Amino acid sequence: DAAVELHDVRKTYRMGDQTVHALDGVSLTIGRGSYTAVMGPSGSGKSTLMNVVGCLDTPTEGVVEVDGVDVTELSDAERTGLRGDEIGFVFQTFNLMPQQTARENVELPMTFQGVGRSERRERATELLESVGLGDRMDHKPNELSGGQRQRVAIARALANDPAIVLADEPTGNLDSDTEADILALFEELNAAGNTILTVTHERLVAEHAERIVHLFDGEIEEIEEIAERRIAG
Ligand code: ADP
Ligand code: ADP
Repeated sequence: DAAVELHDVRKTYRMGDQTVHALDGVSLTIGRGSYTAVMGPSGSGKSTLMNVVGCLDTPTEGVVEVDGVDVTELSDAERTGLRGDEIGFVFQTFNLMPQQTARENVELPMTFQGVGRSERRERATELLESVGLGDRMDHKPNELSGGQRQRVAIARALANDPAIVLADEPTGNLDSDTEADILALFEELNAAGNTILTVTHERLVAEHAERIVHLFDGEIEEIEEIAERRIAG
């Protein structure tokens, strides 16, 4: 069964007398445990696709199912709740809370979902250990390197055991060695069963995924299966 399914999804923006079809009939199945990259030129609909899959935005037409739930049928409050349960976000700019330690940052999504204090601590500790930051849990973001910050963000994205992790240019701010470390971490997480959808401009980054969805003008132009995946390290 699928982590996420899109059925003929359209997203239309009206700008004065102009109509922009940001997504123009996108159908896509993202299997549980799969690793997908999305590529496409600027304006092709990548952000809109991520926002729709991430339940930050609703389509104008079509159906989006996350973990079997049709999110287009939910109220805003229900969609926010589902997002907290089922979507993990990783951003180019990390988006960590600067005044909070690594562990507190990882605990935050669990706090929103009402997880108790001791369980939060235990899970945050486990997650930070699993991303190689067991010895940095009490550091604040400005005491961590860029790669370490992104590891915290990835641990945070996994906090509520989401159906899918959405990563928007996750290595865009990192040097090439650190990029390789983070890509290796995504591979490990995927091998452990996590579902990953990443947007990238870089072909070499996209080739770490199992398949690349090529968007053009709001449509899927091609789904490319990567036979020989590029392995980081
Ligand atoms: P990408 O991420 O691939 O650059 P986007 O999803 O951001 O593409 O945008 C797809 C198209 O939709 C573009 O033509 C963009 O200008 C338009 N668009 C995106 N968001 C909005 C918005 N909030 N209002 C109007 N047009 C938008
Ligand atoms: P890496 O190569 O692991 O990405 P760096 O070489 O930048 O990281 O940093 C090496 C070590 O120095 C890291 O373990 C990190 O915790 C620490 N460090 C990096 N930046 C800072 C900072 N601004 N303040 C305190 N410690 C830092």
